[in-house]
Amino acid sequence: MTVRFMLALVASLAATSSVSGQAIAGPEAPKPVVITFLDVGQGDATVIRTPSGRVVMIDAGRVSPLRQLTRLGVSEIALLIATHAHADHIGGLDDVLTARPVDTYVDNGTPHTTETYRELMAHIERLDVRYLQAVPRTLILDEISLDILPLPPSMEGQNNRSVGVILRYGEFLAFFSGDSERPELEFWQGRGVVEDVTLLKAPHHGAVNGFTYSFLEEASPEVVVISVGGTNPYGHPRPEALAAYSSFADEVLRTDRDGTVTVLGFSDGRYETVLGEDSYDQVELQSMGDWDLNQLGSEDESGELELISRMLPSNQTTGSMEHVLTLIVNAGTNSQDASNLNAEYVVIENHSPTSLDIGMWQLCDLSSRCFRFPAGSKIDGARRVVVYTGYGATDGVSFFMNNGNAVWNDNGDEARLFDAGGQEVLRYVYE
Ligand SMILES: [Zn+2]
Repeated sequence: MTVRFMLALVASLAATSSVSGQAIAGPEAPKPVVITFLDVGQGDATVIRTPSGRVVMIDAGRVSPLRQLTRLGVSEIALLIATHAHADHIGGLDDVLTARPVDTYVDNGTPHTTETYRELMAHIERLDVRYLQAVPRTLILDEISLDILPLPPSMEGQNNRSVGVILRYGEFLAFFSGDSERPELEFWQGRGVVEDVTLLKAPHHGAVNGFTYSFLEEASPEVVVISVGGTNPYGHPRPEALAAYSSFADEVLRTDRDGTVTVLGFSDGRYETVLGEDSYDQVELQSMGDWDLNQLGSEDESGELELISRMLPSNQTTGSMEHVLTLIVNAGTNSQDASNLNAEYVVIENHSPTSLDIGMWQLCDLSSRCFRFPAGSKIDGARRVVVYTGYGATDGVSFFMNNGNAVWNDNGDEARLFDAGGQEVLRYVYE
């Protein structure tokens, strides 16, 4: 069911607002999760407000979205997700991090070569924001939960390592897809994590490589929102994509024509859409406070753990350190290998709050080509290190194998991590 009248929204929000509650008799009107796709030109920036009024932001556009955040009354962000490291998604993040307290930051753990990316990561390091790599887990924030979907292990480029998120609020489900293209959509289908959703954020700005009929059939969205700039050199959204979305969804909305798009999701599965800036800024917001970070492998009584294990891809890390460390290989591409060996790297993240001594540990591939971490090396709590294949000098966070040849096979390999005693503690297999 769709209600497009602004008055309906205002009435519904007024009914849920404690300040104007005296005018409303009877039972309290149901509170929606409020999902606002900011009009940021060619790029993505989405603000999600829980029924209790806490804020999740997914991407921040190419330039600062602070004007819109101020308009929405967003003063704190509980969870900030960067789907991938392209400038039309992370360009505005620096300003957001400067101007708003952020509790937790999630990204795809895949470094990018740009200055924008390096400055952003340095900024996050300075702020000491809690950093989480996007491994499959469920994050619970008030009434909503966010399933972080598994990432394809060795895809080419950032788009197909976009952090995928399924938001749940009762019967209402929304799928956020970053700039994923067919390979990642097919990967998610293969992992069985695509569900029947109410709202789909169109992958990759409505690109022709951002949809498949099979994916749309499985996701079966009632409303699709395309975040796209009015003039862009890519021809987004493409007519083929628009036709596909229109054949599945009742409504296809786009920020280039509709401006800011807000979708209200209700726990009984209903939704309402509101277009334009003036009609969505009346949500009562709360301080970010404490919230539940239900991480991979943690105990939970509400069945979340079952969900997580269902989502675990078969080629995740295994071994005695699997609950402490995540290891991901980016094998680069053939074309990059010869010219830039540092396009190949391994990311190791420490999920525990305490520093881990990895001095004299070894990282090896299937052919026993190994890198030994220098004595005294460590991974700080909730931090990560990157081991690049090519040449460079370590700063304690970036390590270099100083190899003249590619190490990680593009078509499948194993990364094995051995502790200082030579005991294998972690293994990551990819195909
Ligand atoms: Zn993009």
